[in-house]
Amino acid sequence: MSDSNALPIYKPEPSIAPLQSAFDFALSEWKRWCAEKGLPTFNAGQIYSWIFEKEVLSPDGFTNLSQATRTLLSEEFDWSLPGIESHLISKDTSEKFLLKTRDGNLVEMVVMPYENRTTLCISSQVGCRMGCTFCQTGKLGLMRNLSSGEILAQILLANRRLKELGHARGVTNIVFMGMGEPLDNYEAVLQACKTMVDPKAFGLSTARVTVSTSGLVPEIRRLAKDLPVRLAISLHTADDAKRSAMMPVNRTYSLDVLKEALLEYPAPKRYGITFEYVMIEGENDNILDAKKLVRFVHGLKAKVNLIPINHFPGIEMRRSEADRIQAFQKYLTDRSIPAPVRYSKGQDISGGCGQLAAKRKDELDRDPRELARERRRARRTESNASS
Ligand code: SF4
Repeated sequence: MSDSNALPIYKPEPSIAPLQSAFDFALSEWKRWCAEKGLPTFNAGQIYSWIFEKEVLSPDGFTNLSQATRTLLSEEFDWSLPGIESHLISKDTSEKFLLKTRDGNLVEMVVMPYENRTTLCISSQVGCRMGCTFCQTGKLGLMRNLSSGEILAQILLANRRLKELGHARGVTNIVFMGMGEPLDNYEAVLQACKTMVDPKAFGLSTARVTVSTSGLVPEIRRLAKDLPVRLAISLHTADDAKRSAMMPVNRTYSLDVLKEALLEYPAPKRYGITFEYVMIEGENDNILDAKKLVRFVHGLKAKVNLIPINHFPGIEMRRSEADRIQAFQKYLTDRSIPAPVRYSKGQDISGGCGQLAAKRKDELDRDPRELARERRRARRTESNASS
């Protein structure tokens, strides 16, 4: 069941400008705010640490600050987290949350507990404008970027949920593989990543934060200089013509240009660069495709995640047959390229990138009676088929 009732949901008054979210401020902005209010500079570090290190999300609990400062913080900032629109628990124990931002947009996050780590898959944008043909988020288009606070709020919510479940540990790994192209929202994603790895905030190592991109080369180069966290590339084919058809970004930054940037990226030595490769029947799954892939990753420390595509309404593409996937995998592993087959966690709860939000967004604009009729028809067909 959803824990949504336990969380405050922001309800803006139509005529009043919304308050600044407290979670959007970097340490430098808290310092500026303290200076403006005539407060000592060290108060900035204390506020920042209460929020992102101790995860106390109400100024009432900031016990080392004066009552006057706490009142000021309560009055000047919005301290609410996004609301939880829906919450699904998979058989594989991953949990998917559809979150509602304070302006009513929907984004998703997935909490994936493993034996030795807990990974959180987070969103960076509402929708996405990159238009990859196999992706449900791409079908939504871009509504807006998330702020750094809205990105970080996903960790705060996930940690709160893990605590409620009695887990001794919170989120240990973060992957930007939810909705959106993170490098298309560069400044907010960079600020959020800085807070994730800051020892005075979430304190994760850069090797535990992965930014997944479709291949925005200038931003990959910027990230290399600003904060070289782990990099994952949504590659999906190493053939330029095919990639340009599947992923419009390739028409601007071809495979050669992308490869050059990757060769220069200071990826953590132990991990190198991860390539995501959705397996689509007849599209990118034959041995010639595997050969091109091997040629592309040559010279890089690379791991290739083979991901049988999740079908969703509105696409013709089908996942590759198991023997095709095995042959493809073998071709890579025979050449010392690790290539695990990864089924998206939470497939029974629309686990693929953007699928839950896209499903709800579809439904939001539909006549509920028509939807109910459709669901009844589908249930009847299903039970007829199984009887
Ligand atoms: S695969 Fe990633 S970059 Fe491409 S449309 Fe989907 S969310 Fe955007």
